[in-house]
Amino acid sequence: MSVDNPLDDLIRRLARLPGLGTRSARRAVLHLMINRDSLMLPLAEDISRVAQSVRHCVECGNFDTADTCRICRNTDRDQSRICVVEDVADLWAMERAGVFSGRYHVLGGVMSAIDGVGPEELRIDYLVSKSGEDAVQEVILATSATVDGQTTAHYIAERLEPTKVQVTRLAHGVPVGGELDYLDDGTLAQAMRARRQIND
Ligand SMILES: [Zn+2]
Repeated sequence: MSVDNPLDDLIRRLARLPGLGTRSARRAVLHLMINRDSLMLPLAEDISRVAQSVRHCVECGNFDTADTCRICRNTDRDQSRICVVEDVADLWAMERAGVFSGRYHVLGGVMSAIDGVGPEELRIDYLVSKSGEDAVQEVILATSATVDGQTTAHYIAERLEPTKVQVTRLAHGVPVGGELDYLDDGTLAQAMRARRQIND
């Protein structure tokens, strides 16, 4: 069993990473073994350090070593806009593209009847209360153009109605069924510029 073969354990675990299969995991492990001092040991240390020190930002849900992430701590950013994204990968895609300078709210998924994910799981109450702050003028719904992404956006827009905040949605450029993280930066920038208001 796995107890006496740590090499197999490592390969099996690596193979579960997105984009890797058993064959790639095996190659990666061989490469690590060959570069034990220059790569494998530092990597093991990195993983352990990140696992112990990085957590979700209490404000937006991003990952950081502090309770409040560096984006939320940055007072130079536009405090009047909140961009709502499905996950941290989407937040990073936005930052990479440099198309948004406001605050974020990471949902941690989308509403899904099949997967049993309801609004309670997505910290939507907290988003609604934050959006009611005087400083906030616009909430940009940047969920994916998938059915679940759209459903979630509509639900949030409805919940935000009493706050009187302007609610916009990423527009042109996001292909139907498209996930944000897979868009190139230009497409994402265009989608942000062409966002449209979905309430009045
Ligand atoms: Zn944050």
